[in-house]
Amino acid sequence: MESNLWKKYENNRKELEDFCTGYKDFISTCKTERECIRYAVKKAEQAGYRSLKDLMQENAKLKTGDKVYAINMDKALVLFCVGKQPIEKGINIVGSHIDSPRLDLKAKPFYESTGFCMLDTHYYGGIKKYQWTALPLALHGVVVKKDGERLNICIGENEDDPVVGISDLLPHLEKESSKKGDLKGEDLNVLAGTIQDEKSEKDKIKANMFNLLKSKGIEEDDFFSAEIEVVPAGKARDFGLDRSMIMGYGQDDRVCAYASLMATLETDSPEYSTLCLWVDKEEIGSVGATGMSSKYFENVVAEIMNLAGQYSELALRRAFNNSCMLSSDVTAAVDPNYLAPFNLSTDAHFNKGISFNKYTGAYGKSGANDANPEFIARLRKIMDDEGVTYQATEMGKVDEGGGGTIAYIMAKYGMDVIDAGVPVLNMHAPWEITSKADVYETYRAYKAFNKSKK
Ligand code: MN
Ligand code: MN
Repeated sequence: MESNLWKKYENNRKELEDFCTGYKDFISTCKTERECIRYAVKKAEQAGYRSLKDLMQENAKLKTGDKVYAINMDKALVLFCVGKQPIEKGINIVGSHIDSPRLDLKAKPFYESTGFCMLDTHYYGGIKKYQWTALPLALHGVVVKKDGERLNICIGENEDDPVVGISDLLPHLEKESSKKGDLKGEDLNVLAGTIQDEKSEKDKIKANMFNLLKSKGIEEDDFFSAEIEVVPAGKARDFGLDRSMIMGYGQDDRVCAYASLMATLETDSPEYSTLCLWVDKEEIGSVGATGMSSKYFENVVAEIMNLAGQYSELALRRAFNNSCMLSSDVTAAVDPNYLAPFNLSTDAHFNKGISFNKYTGAYGKSGANDANPEFIARLRKIMDDEGVTYQATEMGKVDEGGGGTIAYIMAKYGMDVIDAGVPVLNMHAPWEITSKADVYETYRAYKAFNKSKK
């Protein structure tokens, strides 16, 4: 086999390891969209980014080099750095998503069964249901009280925290009819407790649970105005005896989100304006106010152009039309245990660098954004000039399936868009795997793109 990326880093592994340590910390503590946004805003403010809301209130004048952040409902984010060129000449955009597959608690989650207090869930995104059983799970999220008070919830991550989980049947009693693969969505119920409140007339275990919650200021009806995500409990960690990989929850697509955040925070006074975009709801079709299909992104760029004294409807449209975007999402890496769906020469491999997918889609490229060769040629030069290792890939054999990203939504503006991200194993499983070298190379690719000229 030809040499892989580790050859490049054999004598200078420290920076790569330091970067991945920061990344592991990010995915260990940020397991919901809101947790990701809180993390990013803190980092952005430290790097000199200022809130768009504040700048609008001050009616500030934005000039070259100024840095602005905007958050949408605490679940989506724009980081904008004003370039030397007028904004209408185009923006270098790196866009990723920060939602990940998981189980969400329903609005009325609590019920009792056979001596247990249970939590009813509705899964989010594409999951293989059996993978979520017999695992330690944590609860992350927010409860909003009627008076507007927000209570952040995080149970199951500290070493002495309790965890919850979904039970699985012992093999001895598992007949064909109840095989793991046959789990239904309604079967994904979380076991939450067993102690009874003997003073209560009925639902004694539920009653005891509500006593516990009441001591934290939460009542049963408050779960209607809550978003609690049930996610794998525990930290990301090194994977492999040589520590070359990372195993962690939510790497689709927080690995690209983190790489683009870091690349953006380290970009100062770029030639063209830069925009780091984090969106929600990609896993369920990019819908909703916080998904890529929302007008939020457009509105934010309009407000920023306005503060920079560069806004007109036409200038805004030109800005989008002249922009370039890396749709920063993960792709499937060739898996040695499951070779059948892969084409070994055209699919992504670990340790070959950032993966560029000219098109995604399925069954004759259906649903794909198909990147233009002129744009790809420019990217090849940008990457080669900065010594970034990359691979040109597809996702699986033709007609084996496929996937989509936010690429086609951004392409609607007439901008050049290509999918560019980290290859992942175990994608959408509770614990996903990436190669540290690919993670680092992807960050380097985003940095090179941010400062690129046309
Ligand atoms: Mn993704
Ligand atoms: Mn996904």
